[in-house]
Amino acid sequence: MLADKDRIFTNLYGMHDRTLKGAQARGHWDGTAAIIKKGRDWIIDQMKASGLRGRGGAGFPTGLKWSFMPKESDGRPAYLVVNADESEPGTCKDREIMRHDPHTLVEGCLIASFAMNANACYIYIRGEYIREKEALQAAIDEAYEAGLVGKNAAKSGWDFDIYLHHGAGAYICGEETALLESLEGKKGMPRMKPPFPAGAGLYGCPTTVNNVESIAVVPTILRRGPEWFAGFGRANNAGTKLFAISGHVNNPCVVEEAMSISFEELIETHCGGIKGGWDNLKAVIPGGSSVPCVRGEKMRDAIMDFDYLRGDLGSGLGTAAVIVMDKDTDIIKAIWRLAKFYKHESCGQCTPCREGTGWMMRVMERLVQGNADPSEIDMLWDVTKQVEGHTICALGDAAAWPIQGLINNFRDEIEDRIKAQVSGKTTRAVAAK
Ligand code: NAD
Ligand code: SF4
Repeated sequence: MLADKDRIFTNLYGMHDRTLKGAQARGHWDGTAAIIKKGRDWIIDQMKASGLRGRGGAGFPTGLKWSFMPKESDGRPAYLVVNADESEPGTCKDREIMRHDPHTLVEGCLIASFAMNANACYIYIRGEYIREKEALQAAIDEAYEAGLVGKNAAKSGWDFDIYLHHGAGAYICGEETALLESLEGKKGMPRMKPPFPAGAGLYGCPTTVNNVESIAVVPTILRRGPEWFAGFGRANNAGTKLFAISGHVNNPCVVEEAMSISFEELIETHCGGIKGGWDNLKAVIPGGSSVPCVRGEKMRDAIMDFDYLRGDLGSGLGTAAVIVMDKDTDIIKAIWRLAKFYKHESCGQCTPCREGTGWMMRVMERLVQGNADPSEIDMLWDVTKQVEGHTICALGDAAAWPIQGLINNFRDEIEDRIKAQVSGKTTRAVAAK
């Protein structure tokens, strides 16, 4: 279990004072100017050495991403944009940072912006996050009043402004280029990449889009040193990490733990175990709804990091939103619900996603009832393969992967449902739930 002294988020549960005074008492905003005065290259090198990989879901190395920004201005302003549009089903970790520890983020925005030659930062916060917006705006206002941001921010010699933009509740606006479109006042539709935002981002200017957690951990990493952060987890999977555990555990929670903790330790230490015990574990979605589910028996010894969950289990760490399902769960229905979600959230600009999400949802709807021919399982698989990798943004993949996970892991259950329907048993079984 991660020791209290190694937690970056010391007020994750809102037990302490979240104001500037409280944050400073817990060590935030300590020596910020001294960090900045060490220079851009030093900061980026430290971030690379820490091994931090993006906490928004994709796990792209943060220091490397920062290094794509132009070193010198070419006349265009540079921007940091913080993606606080946390909308992935199951994911609620950034919410806790913004509610209870907002100064970790504000301080991180200043340091990261300086490192990327940006005098301005936009935080794009999810439309439904009303209280979080209030807490974060209050922290920004306090930081302005105390001279920690604004002209000569924190007496560092760097002028820095920070703006909070409230989204309108569309999942697709969490995709980084749709987010930029939305910030520019347009409909939130993803752009083709490349160019990546570092080349042409907000208003066509060099931009880096980072997740809330990725930015909020920066000041502590720089204060404590990259070796400290890299000391948690495994090679290529470094650091501490927020996990959001929901579903059929005795105590659902958001918790900061060392990366690469085992699933069993995570659940036993922080969630009071699986409801009904380990034998009652049916399936887990380990990284938010965009990654495939895994059968329960494969999860107990799983290592909770990027490489193990993807390489060994064919799933992913994603946003580290761990959704636990017990044996009472209708897994076909659960995945159908996700298919419905992705169909609803597709922006519709590319055909495989616009049409494919609808087809997948409709076939899944019939599979829930067992009202299908067994050959349709393979047909559904083919449709997911036509969508995967053939779309402008990752929403197409995200819609395909949960269904692939279902077919890979629970094909027997789908077939049984179809057989039961043929023999007239399904309607009663499904209706009973
Ligand atoms: P991605 O792999 O395309 O990109 C990740 C980041 O790395 C982006 O910022 C991108 O600009 C950058 N990048 C990637 N390749 C690059 C290159 N060659 N040069 C320069 N920069 C490069 O992934 P994505 O589409 O941004 O995100 C997908 C992930 O988002 C999924 O894995 C999912 O887990 C996650 N997600 C999270 C939420 C949430 O609420 N946090 C919601 C939906 C999806
Ligand atoms: Fe829009 Fe879907 Fe294409 Fe993404 S994959 S751009 S959400 S239609």
